[in-house]
Amino acid sequence: MNKGKLLIVGFGPGHFDHLTERAREAIRESEVVVGYNTYVDIIRDLLTDQEIVRTGMTEEVSRAQEAVRQAEQGRKVAVISSGDAGVYGMAGLVYEVLIEKGWHPDTGVEVEVIPGISAINSCASLLGSPVMHDACMISLSDHLTPWETIAKRIEAAASADFVIALYNPKSGRRVRQIVETQRILLQYRSPGTPVGLVKSAYRERQQIVLTTLGDMLNHEIGMLTTVIIGNSTTFVYEGLMITPRGYQRKYTLSKESQDLKPHQRLQVEAEPWSLNAFGESSGKFVREQNIATADKRKASVRPASLAHEALSVLQAKGLVETGITTIPFTKPVSIFEVAVSPGVANKIITPEQLVLLAEIAGDQGEIKYTPHHQLILRVPTDEPAAVTARLTEAGLLLSPIGDVVQLKACDFCDGEKGESIPLAEELNRRLGGLKVPKELKIGFNGCAMACYGAVTEEIGIVYRRGTYDLFLGGKKIGRNAHPAQRVAEGISPGELLETVEQVVREYAEQGHPDERFNKFFKRVKEVAGFAYSDERKPVIEELACGD
Ligand code: SAH
Repeated sequence: MNKGKLLIVGFGPGHFDHLTERAREAIRESEVVVGYNTYVDIIRDLLTDQEIVRTGMTEEVSRAQEAVRQAEQGRKVAVISSGDAGVYGMAGLVYEVLIEKGWHPDTGVEVEVIPGISAINSCASLLGSPVMHDACMISLSDHLTPWETIAKRIEAAASADFVIALYNPKSGRRVRQIVETQRILLQYRSPGTPVGLVKSAYRERQQIVLTTLGDMLNHEIGMLTTVIIGNSTTFVYEGLMITPRGYQRKYTLSKESQDLKPHQRLQVEAEPWSLNAFGESSGKFVREQNIATADKRKASVRPASLAHEALSVLQAKGLVETGITTIPFTKPVSIFEVAVSPGVANKIITPEQLVLLAEIAGDQGEIKYTPHHQLILRVPTDEPAAVTARLTEAGLLLSPIGDVVQLKACDFCDGEKGESIPLAEELNRRLGGLKVPKELKIGFNGCAMACYGAVTEEIGIVYRRGTYDLFLGGKKIGRNAHPAQRVAEGISPGELLETVEQVVREYAEQGHPDERFNKFFKRVKEVAGFAYSDERKPVIEELACGD
């Protein structure tokens, strides 16, 4: 039987003009085209009588399996990916499926990977020339890669001064990754670092935004955006983002005749930064640099200053010719982020506290009001302890944000129904800020009216005549929002504390990374001895206000 063929095609950014001739041919000569719906639409004009296997976004594995199956039946199958199929595309996956089946290149179906223009290149071309030099691609999608690994790569790339192209920066469900990425990058790069945001390059809704590392989150970033972060030499000129090639070290660009003649340019003296310039002692230099890097963690001197320092040493030794430009170093500042409220039950912020917040935020910081009755303060500072001391002194309650436990209490009818406030405060002391797989809100309402919506939170607690009702697994937002399940009624204060602690402990220990509490409850079926139930009946009989 005729051996089939797999043509794994990268069709570039999305415009016909940027599709290679071989890619066109491959699509034309195929009998079957396998691809994600939107991609099939993009190459529609090339199709004649090919059979189309369309599947949704998340079914990449079944697409690869189907492509292999069809090729094994002797057909020519084109598997299409946007950009380059070898960059977060289908190429690796198809090979993995083949290998799983014991495929061998000589005897199995033929495979041809056809290169395409990847987003790093198409997006760069629209911004000017931001890549130019050593660069890397990092995908912020943590569906298949642990966030810890991604964070390490961001940090490594940031510290080594790579230009960085961020793929998959944000989606409807993954919104925090880009915020965290900015935080890591700001530890190594100045907030003024040029950043380019390109959405749908060479497609109908193309959008290009030039911004900075400090400001990039104030612009739209989505599934179709590639974020290009400049290195320490990248600059902006007339709306273009440019990373120099480094010629100015050896050439005077404004002159037609060069002081350094061609034969002089490659001499060691003209390249004091090269490995050869260190001769025999090069190994020693590298070792010293490593030690200095380790020390840096303690002394918190950034690596960019290390390069600067090394250059100064060389200059002092007369090893660097005069006129060679060094990179100006601006010490980057970290952004400190904290949730601020007047108290667990108290919802009244005093004018003095507001003035203090405004003063601390200053021109560079910001104060954001969230749907969870919280003020988030973000300030650039290297001394967060000084900031927290001032805020605490003014009587403000601070809570860390991110994947931690947060207590959301009501105002206890302005304190009039305040019997359970001490317990709410105790709960906050014990659990507030505790690290969990995904942010976890505990709603605490001081009477059965529960007007602050405790019963729709992931964990809800309602105080009623000296005892407590406990609710688990609510989902407050989304189309499939639902109240929590009432799991216990009329329990004592001591029992409540113990039970809630047990629930949170089990979630912290057994929850998958990024798994919300309601999903966790559904998956494990039982938490702290309470069985999960799918039924969502009206939770409680109507009660008169304040009962
Ligand atoms: N194989 C593709 C990448 C697929 S991952 C390539 O080589 O380009 C999907 C991510 O690629 C998107 O989240 C976005 O960051 C980037 N991307 C792909 N096409 C793009 C385009 N036309 N414009 C901007 N970004 C794009």
